Amino acid sequence: MLKIDQGIRCGEYFAVDPTVKSDLAVVSHAHSDHLKAHREIVATAPTIELAGLVYKRFRSKIVNFHEKFTIGPAEVELAPAGHMLGSAQVILDFNGERIVYTGDFKFEENRTCARAKIHPCDTLLIDTTYGMPHYRFPKAEECREMLVDFVLKNLKRRITPVILAYTFGKAQEAMEILGREGMEMDVYKKIFSAAMIYSKFGIDLGRFYPLGERPVSGRVVILPPGAFRFVDSRGWGRYKTCFLSGWTIDKNRGYGNSNGFGIPLSDHASFDDIIRYVETAKPKKVYTLFGPSRIAEYLKRIGFKAEAVDLKTGRSIANHSAGNLELFN
Ligand SMILES: [Zn+2]
Repeated sequence: MLKIDQGIRCGEYFAVDPTVKSDLAVVSHAHSDHLKAHREIVATAPTIELAGLVYKRFRSKIVNFHEKFTIGPAEVELAPAGHMLGSAQVILDFNGERIVYTGDFKFEENRTCARAKIHPCDTLLIDTTYGMPHYRFPKAEECREMLVDFVLKNLKRRITPVILAYTFGKAQEAMEILGREGMEMDVYKKIFSAAMIYSKFGIDLGRFYPLGERPVSGRVVILPPGAFRFVDSRGWGRYKTCFLSGWTIDKNRGYGNSNGFGIPLSDHASFDDIIRYVETAKPKKVYTLFGPSRIAEYLKRIGFKAEAVDLKTGRSIANHSAGNLELFN
């Protein structure tokens, strides 16, 4: 009845973060690896609004955090995930068992969204994107200061600071940090549309404008890293890029010092926070998702029943099982 098969599927009733078009999807947040063109989406109001920037035709049901509702045999509750505006953990009560799917989550303060808490459960499906011990990030406050310093230093030298940040979430977090310091920003079209939704939900992102052919002097440019490659920046004068991502910890991935400046402001939990979640939630079984499968080995060593699973196929990553992993009958 409850299994991992192209998302977390509860029989014919619904699926959580299904990886293919589905009739009824409970969606944790608006990033493209969690959101597809479903017929009906159940999510928080910001997630539904952001989904509307990507997909035009879908039915929607808005639910607030901690508002319990029933779909088929399961009671469902969304709780803050601290990853981006509207991002949710999904708590399922099913057959007397509590299953928590963290979605992408982060504990540390992100001023653009509600903070994540740990939810004790029987079965935990946890985001382990940064599930290796070297993924220990500087404090968010330190990263925010680094960002402001980078921008001020370059503006002073009449160099345009170009911040590379993912369209939904990270870009608006950067805007909140810089907007608060009174800086004006020229932002990529899609970042602008998402920022308008953030503003609608009461997140003050300061003064920002859609980026024209070239940036206005004295403003900060914010672009998704993918788009930056295709922008014609020949008429921009002097500029310097800064990539905002947890991946900048990995210098050898080319995201760090070798490829412009990088600040490891992550919107996912660090390795220590992943372990803290598991140790506090005390699940009988843990499934690790999105990230290095070795974290499951580590969790076993500290006494948990753990398995790394692919959310798409339901395959156990360690023993290449057949897939469509059954969680409960
Ligand atoms: Zn995400």
